[in-house]
Amino acid sequence: MEIRTFGVVGSGQMGSGIAQVAAASGLRVIMSDINEDCTAKGLADIEKNLKRSVEKGKISTEQCQEVLTRLNTTTDLQDMATADFVVEAAVEMEELKFSIFRELDAICPDHVILASNTSSIPIGRIAAQTQRPDKVIGMHFMNPVPVMKLVEVIRGLATSEETFNITWQLSKKFNKTPAEANDYPGFIANRILLPMINEAIYCLYHGVGKAEDIDTVMKLGMNHPMGPLALADLIGLDTCLAIMETLHSGFKDSKYRPCPLLRKYVETGWLGRKSGRGFYQY
Ligand code: NAD
Repeated sequence: MEIRTFGVVGSGQMGSGIAQVAAASGLRVIMSDINEDCTAKGLADIEKNLKRSVEKGKISTEQCQEVLTRLNTTTDLQDMATADFVVEAAVEMEELKFSIFRELDAICPDHVILASNTSSIPIGRIAAQTQRPDKVIGMHFMNPVPVMKLVEVIRGLATSEETFNITWQLSKKFNKTPAEANDYPGFIANRILLPMINEAIYCLYHGVGKAEDIDTVMKLGMNHPMGPLALADLIGLDTCLAIMETLHSGFKDSKYRPCPLLRKYVETGWLGRKSGRGFYQY
């Protein structure tokens, strides 16, 4: 089955990045969100990224224009009826994702693969919301999507070999390197990364060190390109909390309890870069 039109549900930092790499690979893209302010912001972010690539000489002005002409936005999920493959990248809330998948299952033709960019919600639970569990899969991009090479491809128990192969090849078409993971909370990437970020937040909470010092230790001591608190701000503290909650409830193991300071920041609306304030000010 040839994929010509690619659907992306959610135009936030991940959805817009996924839409950008899909359009850059030559696909026609439909990117949706709940209102026009959100789709306009997603599109503006893509334009800004592409213009930066033109300035750096990575792409020509013509290539930038071509990518933009392949991008369409909508606030009506029904428009996904013309997509050959859909990735959901809405906020990390289980009930919201469930309802989007139920709707997509009703809207999209039977052969269409429905992927989720979820950071941690089990693919099997999402797949069970649909009548096509064999065509539901995890396609987990990293942030920022145009820069990061990895796509974690997650098989649910019912995911078919064909669905897996198409998703794997599509990741390569997007100029990414796929890695295979099985369906456990957090998969590989966030099972390892988020407990480390959570522990860094505990270090701040317990007064072991200031944010800058915690990040300096991990950058210069462990050769990490970014400190864990700066990375948490980039990911979004709401997303970090949601992933920790999924690990905690999924494994019923207290080692995954979210740090109270993380919860307090999220309750205050300090969500990291996207809200202008997290562990650092932006
Ligand atoms: P974000 O807050 O930047 O964007 C989420 C978008 O979803 C918003 O624009 C919101 O309006 C939209 N949305 C909400 N309800 C919707 C609906 N019913 N239909 C369509 N759109 C809807 O969040 P993000 O960082 O882009 O995260 C999106 C997903 O990607 C989450 O599942 C997250 O766990 C996952 N993810 C995030 C990162 C990261 O570093 N931020 C990395 C990998 C995966």
